Amino acid sequence: MTTMTSPSSEASRATATPRHATLLAMRHVRHVYDGAQVAVDDVSLTVGPGEVVCLLGPSGCGKTTLLRIAAGLEALQEGELSLRGEPLSVPGGRHVPPEKRSVGLAFQDSALFPHLRVLENVGFGLESLPAGERRERAMALLEQLGMADYARTYPHQLSGGQQQRVALARALAPAPALMLLDEPFSSLDARLREQIRDDTLHVLKRVGAGTLLVTHDPEEAMFMADRIALMHDGRIIQMGTPRELYCEPEDPFVVSFFGAVNEWSGEVRDGRVATPVGPVAAPALAEGARARVMIRPEALRVTPVELPDDERREEPARRGQVIQARLLGRSSLVQLHARGADGSEANLQAQVPGVFLPEPGQPVALALDTSQTFVFPAGAGA
Ligand code: ADP
Ligand code: MG
Repeated sequence: MTTMTSPSSEASRATATPRHATLLAMRHVRHVYDGAQVAVDDVSLTVGPGEVVCLLGPSGCGKTTLLRIAAGLEALQEGELSLRGEPLSVPGGRHVPPEKRSVGLAFQDSALFPHLRVLENVGFGLESLPAGERRERAMALLEQLGMADYARTYPHQLSGGQQQRVALARALAPAPALMLLDEPFSSLDARLREQIRDDTLHVLKRVGAGTLLVTHDPEEAMFMADRIALMHDGRIIQMGTPRELYCEPEDPFVVSFFGAVNEWSGEVRDGRVATPVGPVAAPALAEGARARVMIRPEALRVTPVELPDDERREEPARRGQVIQARLLGRSSLVQLHARGADGSEANLQAQVPGVFLPEPGQPVALALDTSQTFVFPAGAGA
């Protein structure tokens, strides 16, 4: 993960409203489709004022359902849902309709009004304001999202990315307390997506809207979120800051969701589990317990050495041989063959910053960054 955070967005995060003030609260929310399909199962989460929370998870894990419940587009079947402490819905009872929730919505396929120009689209939700003020507010948002030059254009004359910017501006225009965004960048190509994410984050932080943003892309969540709720099969597996999820994963699913990992299972002996790249400490597990070891590709430090294994006197546990290396751009992916001290053999992957392209067959020494290595009880997790 190589997401860079600009100094300006760090600064705006630092000034965000403290966590204890709650804007949106969901408690023990459960949603079942057709009486059988459990889409959301006992989910509790909060969004603070000005806070960006990402609902992250694979397709079908219940993200959109949860967002639609928050928006009022789906009835609350079970649990509690409130905005600033006021209930929005009571299961089987009172229900504040979507348009009365002070909530801005933008979805992946948010359609603009085709017969209205861009400026009129953005000003659509501002009918209570005098015309001049409405224009001014709409123009200001178009400027912030880099779309001021298109104010008089019709939607069909815009590219997909431009339409998404306008849809975001339209959702933000009434200055809602809460923004609900469902994969709003997913139809854009990589470069444009980065730009629009960055612009959007700046606007969200500037207007101070609390945001619940759905994405299946871990890098997007790491970049956008103050906190991430990682979902699997309708449940939140872990909720925390991007750093907490990446560096202190509480479940194997959390580790593997952020990218492919090298994995072994083994037994705890003397507080350690043997792997082909050396023993890994397992302080939380009982002696003799079965353990699952997960090592991120970037945890492996690879150093070319001159001689093959059997001609050196060093501990063979930390030796390997290159199968092949590929340049990914900012990093290189090296496939390796390693042989452990106990004679066990394994193929594994190392990710190395920059251009590092050793020849196939090159003998290497391997070292392990233990902060990127995780041990769980075998059979644990989602
Ligand atoms: P995500 O947004 O994470 O991809 P969804 O909330 O769309 O997940 O879907 C969660 C689960 O609920 C999936 O198994 C999906 O097939 C099911 N589902 C979603 N919408 C409906 C619906 N209207 N009727 C029945 N099942 C649905
Ligand atoms: Mg979805």
